[in-house]
Amino acid sequence: MKKEKALNNFDEDIDPLKKSQTDKVVPIKLTEKSRFKFRCHKGISCFTACCSNINIVLPPYDLLRLRKRFGMTTEDFINKYCEIEILAKTLLPVITLRMQSDEKRSCPFVSPEGCSVYEDRPSNCRYYPLGMATLRKKEAESGKDEFFFMVKESHCKGFEEDKEWTVDEWRKDQEADVYDDVNRGWMDILIKKKSFGEREFPEIKNQMFFMVSTNTDYFRTFVFESSFLDTYDIPAERIEKVRTDDAELLKLAYEWLRSAMFAEETLIFKEGVLAARKEQADAVMRKVYGGKDKE
Ligand code: SF4
Ligand code: SF4
Repeated sequence: MKKEKALNNFDEDIDPLKKSQTDKVVPIKLTEKSRFKFRCHKGISCFTACCSNINIVLPPYDLLRLRKRFGMTTEDFINKYCEIEILAKTLLPVITLRMQSDEKRSCPFVSPEGCSVYEDRPSNCRYYPLGMATLRKKEAESGKDEFFFMVKESHCKGFEEDKEWTVDEWRKDQEADVYDDVNRGWMDILIKKKSFGEREFPEIKNQMFFMVSTNTDYFRTFVFESSFLDTYDIPAERIEKVRTDDAELLKLAYEWLRSAMFAEETLIFKEGVLAARKEQADAVMRKVYGGKDKE
């Protein structure tokens, strides 16, 4: 059973998912090659001790995997298992798992046999007892913008076991690297938004962020049934992938979000689109000012 009390207080400035001050973070930066001893298994005395009273943020791919496991729509899954929270310092809406109302505040997916959604468990659970933090670009040394750290909680007996890993081996074994690959663009958006400080964005931008973060079906419809493909120059091969591959769809969604939220040139406009938009804007101005010069 692996879990992570969301991310923690190793460095609140660089940790966009920080939720709790109480986690036991070892304040040492780890690299992919750092070694540690750990093993978690059903016979261990603390089995499932870590699956309660935790705050787990669900990035887009985590949410998608879980809701698809249950064959549920985004809306039904969120209503049944999640909360919507405003993430501190980004002021953006994110989804967290709702703990049950029992005394321990158990995770909705924990069972006496362990994690009942193990194959689709959230990335925080995959990482545990590690965590990953992402540096803002300007703080990154030689292009390296991620590092890892250890979370040691007194109830966790996994550290007393003899199995040794490198951080890289652990991430691959837990398929945390697969989740990172799909969620990375979303994390970059959180970090970018955080760099704007407490400045609130227009509500429409928060809504776009929430739609893209939670509802891949909606975004796919938006791509294929709006003027999206007439507006942006997307290679045909990529369009075909996006049609059926959720990970590719999410990556396109993050690029669109960056352009919509931060006016970044992440997507290229088709030839003539900008000229047509300018003409439309000019026509509106002519109508408003009736051919007179603006004052
Ligand atoms: S999702 Fe699974 S591993 Fe994660 S806290 Fe819940 S029961 Fe534990
Ligand atoms: S060894 Fe640690 S991760 Fe595994 S069940 Fe025990 S507390 Fe949880």
